[in-house]
Amino acid sequence: MTLTFYGAAHEVTGSCMLLKACGKNIVIDCGMEQGKDIFENQELSLPAGEIDCVLLTHAHIDHSGKIPMFFAQGFRGEVYSTEATHMLCDIMLRDSAHIQEFEAEWRSRKAKRAGGQPYVPLYTMDDAIGAVELFRSCPYNSVIDIADGIKIRFNDAGHLLGSASIEVWVTEDEGTEKIVFSGDIGNIEQPIINDPSYVDEADYVVVESTYGDRSHGERPDYINNLTQVIQRTFDRGGSLIIPSFAVGRTQEMLYFLREIKERGLVKGHDGFRVYVDSPLAVEATTIFSRDVSRPCFDKDTLALIDAGINPLSFDGLKLSVTSDDSKAINFDKSCKVIISASGMCEAGRIRHHLKHNLWKAENTVLFVGYQSVGTLGRSLVEGAPEVKLFGEVIKVNAEIAQLAAISGHADNEGLMRWMSSFKKAPKKVFVEHGDEGACEALASRINEELHFSAYAPYSGDCWDLSQGVCLVKNDGVRIEKTGDKYVLHGGRSCERITPAFSRLKAALGSLSEIVEQNREGANKDLAKLTDQILELCKKWRR
Ligand SMILES: [Zn+2]
Repeated sequence: MTLTFYGAAHEVTGSCMLLKACGKNIVIDCGMEQGKDIFENQELSLPAGEIDCVLLTHAHIDHSGKIPMFFAQGFRGEVYSTEATHMLCDIMLRDSAHIQEFEAEWRSRKAKRAGGQPYVPLYTMDDAIGAVELFRSCPYNSVIDIADGIKIRFNDAGHLLGSASIEVWVTEDEGTEKIVFSGDIGNIEQPIINDPSYVDEADYVVVESTYGDRSHGERPDYINNLTQVIQRTFDRGGSLIIPSFAVGRTQEMLYFLREIKERGLVKGHDGFRVYVDSPLAVEATTIFSRDVSRPCFDKDTLALIDAGINPLSFDGLKLSVTSDDSKAINFDKSCKVIISASGMCEAGRIRHHLKHNLWKAENTVLFVGYQSVGTLGRSLVEGAPEVKLFGEVIKVNAEIAQLAAISGHADNEGLMRWMSSFKKAPKKVFVEHGDEGACEALASRINEELHFSAYAPYSGDCWDLSQGVCLVKNDGVRIEKTGDKYVLHGGRSCERITPAFSRLKAALGSLSEIVEQNREGANKDLAKLTDQILELCKKWRR
């Protein structure tokens, strides 16, 4: 039984792990890398067609975004997730495919003009639709047999609608090992959804560490802070532009705005309009209104629903789906709120709204979520005096504000609280899904304060869980060049990998595993293997 780490190792995005157990190949999360790529990730050491199933913690693209790519490369196993995650992936993976296709087309046009080769998308709409058909919805808190010797259970992680930590029990000849994958752990007292639930037993734990080195501080009064930003912007005659993640954060904003409107907190601008300008956000909002979402809701939200109030709707709310709807917003000269995606301003309609509004001093751009290094959102938050949008230089005259510490992630105390729920020390705690400082800091705290043995793996690290030993240990390989800023969602390339090439890359992965395992091998064997590899290189070098 082995566990290998591929993505989100000393990084925040691109979550992907491979559990080989009971003769099955089980992938836990397969996310896209987003924002700046800091460490080189190793390729999965087997062809996608040999993956038996995927266990998916939640719908965010940095956890789910490569499932259609695996489908394109021949994966036809099951994807186990909660019901709400399944519903959200249905819209999010199609949206991601649309972005991949759009971007490949744009790059192809550019390449053609320069006499280069056309680009093919990482995956297509058909791949996304095919991938969603592989999903199997699972309820929270039920033990499910997924293969001989393998059981799983989803627990509410309180991070996003449908998000889960996954418990996995594996029984092989040597006995049973229980591995817990935290997924992204939610912040406490978030609007709409439940607080994270806790697990009290595990042999091995994989824990996220997005905020492993930071505290959110005291919980801010979101309603009051948002009211103040709206009031001062409207009093200047401006509009409030909120770049927001379409799924999760947008619905939280609507939840706050409903209350602000109901309590009449913004003075002198009665009936102001709120535009949600993102087809994905509009679709996601409807999923929040379906029955599948009910198990994810907290007491306050359920109380509103049971009183016949839609917690995400109010007078003056305008949902814009078509691009004509979107363009029409520019002609509304009143003071208004525009919520649009993407949350880090890297893609989507928000870029049009920024182009139209950033240069006007009366407006405010309000950031309501984490901004990764290297994104347009991050440059604005860091005070860039001008930015480039659609090839045009735009001066930043608008107020740039941030809604303090609104986070869907547990902070370092929340992560420690989640870890301290384990009654007995796990054999090993793997700390992933955090920037270098964050994952190392959390691993140290777990070691020092809880006396659990913890470490932060790099991509390619592999553990034998039956023996509790590390088989492959890597040093992180830093990527010097950050690449093209316009490579969105897909990480480093839009190029589609054919199934045959994917098998070849996987074979290379197996070869490096063998090389690592032979670190202590006899000189004679090492020389023989070296000669054979060099022979192969000589034969195939072009
Ligand atoms: Zn997430």
